[in-house]
Amino acid sequence: MHLADLQTPALVVDADLLEANLAAMAARWPGATLRPHVKAHKTTALAHRQAAHGAEGFTCATIREVEGMVAAGLGQDLLLANEVLDTRRLGALVAQGARVTLAVDSPETVAAAAAGGVREVLVDVNVGLPRCGCRPEDAGALAGRARAAGLAVRGVMGYEGHLQAWPDADERAKLTEEAMATLLAAHADVGGDVVSGGGTGTSACNPWVTEMQAGSYALMDSAYTAAGVGYGQALHVLGTVVHVSAARPDMPAYAVADVGLKALGMDHGNPTIPDAQVWFCSDEHVTFAPEAPVRVGDRVLVVPAHIDPTVALHERMHVVRGSVPDDAEVLESWTVDLRGW
Ligand code: PLP
Ligand code: MN
Repeated sequence: MHLADLQTPALVVDADLLEANLAAMAARWPGATLRPHVKAHKTTALAHRQAAHGAEGFTCATIREVEGMVAAGLGQDLLLANEVLDTRRLGALVAQGARVTLAVDSPETVAAAAAGGVREVLVDVNVGLPRCGCRPEDAGALAGRARAAGLAVRGVMGYEGHLQAWPDADERAKLTEEAMATLLAAHADVGGDVVSGGGTGTSACNPWVTEMQAGSYALMDSAYTAAGVGYGQALHVLGTVVHVSAARPDMPAYAVADVGLKALGMDHGNPTIPDAQVWFCSDEHVTFAPEAPVRVGDRVLVVPAHIDPTVALHERMHVVRGSVPDDAEVLESWTVDLRGW
């Protein structure tokens, strides 16, 4: 099967760039120091590749992701780096032998973890992103509450998400150091071996965590590339040109491909198309001005601005090798099997 045989829109992954990305991150964060976040790709076949590069544990965002990873035989050490109140399904996995560590940041989430049969937690500390995480000064008391409830506290996590795509790399490093100083101070109050955090954007400037939670690096997106994060663009959304419009007095030439809002996560802005100017996306279409003329039926490779919500829209991703987009060979098709909740 070749790229030309795929129905569009379709997620395509460059096999060699994926391997290079996995190898580069594993060289920086070897073995268990990397705890790849699977929410970026939602694909256990890809997680198996990360395990082959040395990862022993993984980070998940949803209960569904934890369940899928266990079912795929990757349940040795999973971190659900999110607050959940209904922990019954996690407790059932733990009872069956999976190792699941859950983030907690409040008395309510501690009580829920204990009630549902979860045994191990990390105290999630707010390090500047206005999302989950307790106040740093409350972390020690929360750890005490968790231990009193019978939970093992493995340590802390703190996700510096607000810094991941910080445009200036030196500033990003300085702000990451400050955020991690907050996390380490909380860790001194909490105890345990684990300091978990980080992402693709801070993976080169955060030596303070004991385990790095990066996820986007495997496939990448244009927002991270724009921030100068040095991993290769391994994922594209393959589209077909369904319309071209020649230049008119009132309108420059443009083309339209079948990769619209429903095939792309758009919260980080428009996708990019190499050698073209993207004008806008609508439900089923992307309208763009190509630098060289294109014809109806041509294939185009669209780079999403944000990988996670893009992948979550697709049922499968196709791993390809060759000079995309024309004669590339489809090596494998992977089901995006961690979708859903
Ligand atoms: N850790 C947490 C808690 C996250 O929410 C995310 C992504 O948003 C990451 C790690 C991974 O970051 P990235 O996909 O940018 O590598
Ligand atoms: Mn993301």
